[in-house]
Amino acid sequence: MDDIWHMALSPDLWNCFKFWTKSAKERAKLGFFEAYPGLVEIDQYVQDLISKFPECLSLIPFGTSFEGRSFQILKISSNPSERKSSIWIQGGAHAREQIGPATVIYIATELACLCYKENEEIYELLNSFDWYILPILNPDGYEYAQNADRLWRKTRSRHPNAQNCVRVDANRNWNIKWSDATGSSSRPCSDYYAGPKAFSEPEKKAVSEFMLDHLKGRLLLFLDFHSYSQRWLTPYGYSSELPPNYQEQRSRVYSRPRRSDSRFAASEDRRF
Ligand SMILES: [Zn+2]
Repeated sequence: MDDIWHMALSPDLWNCFKFWTKSAKERAKLGFFEAYPGLVEIDQYVQDLISKFPECLSLIPFGTSFEGRSFQILKISSNPSERKSSIWIQGGAHAREQIGPATVIYIATELACLCYKENEEIYELLNSFDWYILPILNPDGYEYAQNADRLWRKTRSRHPNAQNCVRVDANRNWNIKWSDATGSSSRPCSDYYAGPKAFSEPEKKAVSEFMLDHLKGRLLLFLDFHSYSQRWLTPYGYSSELPPNYQEQRSRVYSRPRRSDSRFAASEDRRF
């Protein structure tokens, strides 16, 4: 290693994981955002949020995961009977990136609180858009990462002819340029395995079908929260080509007052 420049960002990374990953018993003594919540706690939190803000929040069931967990998406809207331009926010595609779901739920909470119109300026966010919040795209993997293998990344599906390595990288399973891009793998044992075919994973298929059935022509923005690195990635993940409005996106990101040391990348590193 002497010939390779390197820097230790954490003296003991495993301890960091252990600190933030608590057992259900330990979590029961903490606030919801003080440890990565379990699936049961997330369900309960979302239910509580709906009962607190029933005029703006609703829960829409739309599918089940490989292991049979039901998917429900949280819709936030100032007027649920209207059909506005829509914003989709999701987390938890990669099981071990557990700050993603917590972040998405935090955003949902902030949006829900706008129902009280405490801030008229921000309330426009609810007046102008329908918000669809999916806290965990890969609940089976999330559960497995919490209870069995903290660094688990993929889904928990099983496909024939996949040697002993079953499971799929949920973020390589879309049907656009499926298995055709740098950053995905056709080897089942790879952490980046794209699956036996596009949308082989019921979680991804359910999201796609929901969007086509309910949001066709009015989906304005799709935001997917990961925590592999501190980056803002632009579409599309299969290419390093910049999007037409790259400069506009970049200036908006950099105009944030507290951007920390986040980097802005045009998907040159696709391993997210
Ligand atoms: Zn990721």
